[in-house]
This record gives sequence, C-alpha cells and structure tokens, in this order.
Amino acid sequence: MQAIKKDIRALTKEQLRTFFEAHGDKAFRGNQVYEWLWGKAAHSFDEMTNISKETRQMLEDNFVINNIRVDQMQRSNDGTIKNAVRLHDDLIVESVLIPTPTRTTACVSSQVGCSLDCKFCATAKLKRMRNLNPDEIYDQVVAIDNESRLYFDRPLSNIVFMGMGEPLMNYNNVLAAIDKITSPEGLGMSPRRITVSTSGVPKMIKKMADTEVKFKLAVSLHSAIDEVRTSIMPFNATFPLADLREALEYWYGKTKSRITYEYVVWKGINDTRNDVDALVKFCKFAPSKVNLIEYNPIGDEVFKQADNRAIEMYQQILERNGITVTVRRSRGKDIDAACGQLANKS
Ligand code: SF4
Repeated sequence: MQAIKKDIRALTKEQLRTFFEAHGDKAFRGNQVYEWLWGKAAHSFDEMTNISKETRQMLEDNFVINNIRVDQMQRSNDGTIKNAVRLHDDLIVESVLIPTPTRTTACVSSQVGCSLDCKFCATAKLKRMRNLNPDEIYDQVVAIDNESRLYFDRPLSNIVFMGMGEPLMNYNNVLAAIDKITSPEGLGMSPRRITVSTSGVPKMIKKMADTEVKFKLAVSLHSAIDEVRTSIMPFNATFPLADLREALEYWYGKTKSRITYEYVVWKGINDTRNDVDALVKFCKFAPSKVNLIEYNPIGDEVFKQADNRAIEMYQQILERNGITVTVRRSRGKDIDAACGQLANKS
C-alpha cells in the first residue's frame, strides 16, 4: 500500500529547514520552498524554478500540496463573485468577493458546514463535516485576491470570517491562517483589515483577548433578549447573553478594540420597541457599533425581512443613544452569496 504523503504546508519554516538539512541540503533551501508555498502560493513543486529538478522530485516523493480548486465562479449583477471551492478531499466550501467603489472584501469560510444551528442560516442545514486547515483558509483569500486584481484592478483590501462555519470553533486554524495572511512572507495584510465574526462563544472571545490579537471582532447578535436569541440561535441556551456580555467587556478591556454587532431585524421576531431597548442597553456594556443587515430569505416561512418602519425605528433609537449604526443592503443575492445564504446550492 502506498504511504499517504504529508501536506508540505503543514510544516513550519523551521521544520522545512530541518528537513533539508536532514536530506544533506542547505537549511536555506527550506526558506526558498517556504516562499514558494506561501508568498507565491505555488500549486505544484514544478513551479519552484529556483529549486533543482532533483530536489523538486525529492519533494514530490515526500509531500503533496493540497491546494484548493475554484470549481465554479458565479458573478452577481452587482459585481459580487461567489467561489465554490473544492478541497483536496472533494468537499466544497464557498467564499465571496464583495466589491465596493473603495474596497474589495473577501468573505471566507472556516468550516465545512457549521457546528452551530442558527435557524435563519442556510449553512446550518449542512452538518459540520470538518474544520478547514490554515492553508485552506489562506487559499480562499489568495483566490479572491487574484480575482480582485483580475476583475477590479486592485488587490484585496479586507477580509471577514463570515462565510461557512463558526470561526471560533476552529480557533487554532483560523489564527494560524491569519498569521500567514498578515505575515510579510504571506500576503502582508494589516490585521486591522481583518474581522472575525462569531455568533458569540464567550470562552473563545476571552482566549482571543488574552492572545492580544490585532484583528477586529464582530458578533452576530440578532437579539439582546435571551428568550428571543435562544429561539433563533439555540446555542444561546448554553452561552447566554450574560456570559457573552462578560466576555465582550473582557475583550474590550484587553484590546481597546470596538465591537461590531451584526443584527438582522425580522418581522414578528425582533421588531418591537422592547427589542431595540434591549439592544441599546447591550451596546452600552462595551464600546460598539451596530450593522443592521438586510435579510436574505432562505426559503423559510418563519424568517421574513422586517418592514422599513422597524429598521428606521432601530436606526433612530440607536443614533439617539449615541450608538453608531449602519444599514447594510445585501450583496450577491441573485447568486445566493449573501449573508446566511452559503449552502453549496450552485
Ligand atoms: S450563522 Fe454562522 S454560526 Fe450560525 S449556523 Fe450559520 S454559519 Fe453557523
């Protein structure tokens, strides 16, 4: 039986240097290969043209490069691009490029399916199959950076972890991917341009704060009333708002980085004055701002976009209380690329 080869990108630079030394070569060769793997995102050993043919063969004999493949790319009328990304084991995740006049944002996935069960989310209907590896997250970003340069003539400017999966349930791999994305040997992006969006796992938010990460934090809040939140995000029963609040205060205390609350207003679910008042109160616990996001129906009878009047009420009351609020129109709806719509439907 043929031995399964290891993915070379699971090795650190130091491990690559040691590998070459152990094979009678110079440790420096490890730096060269590392640069090809991460800085140049090489898909095969043959691309490594400053490495001898014999060495490339030796790498081929020992390792694989488990690159992702963009199987299908769909372009929306508004310029949004959705990639269906095939992983080395043939599972599929999705990532999205969202262009605006001034920036290009990549929305990337962190898990195949999702560990959580938000009732309004199409991804939740796929069970969690596995976590993505750091290189699989990194590759999604590289693919979108390439598309941004090709179609919009500019590099990718921002990243949000808001695709499939709960990033804090794949904590180590997400942080390892961000390390590569921000490293000068990777994409060299500023961490301030990266937002990790979580549904709110208190223990992991505290852990991130202790790690003194430099990226931004967003929380899919959707309700500041336990009863309502548990009905739409059942894991709230395990991680209630009081625990989330404590973790967010801890986050702000450590990082001094303002939190963004992602919030969809649904008809008959969270569109009353009582809901707004609870949100205002929650926002006062730690410096924060609110993104009111337009809902994208996923063919469900329960969740319907609230009336404009309800959105306006939220906006006015939040503003009156000195809370920054932005109303976000949805992008890429016609290709099921909008928030909560990613479910491998293409
Ligand atoms: S909204 Fe996010 S956390 Fe909730 S089920 Fe969907 S992908 Fe998972």
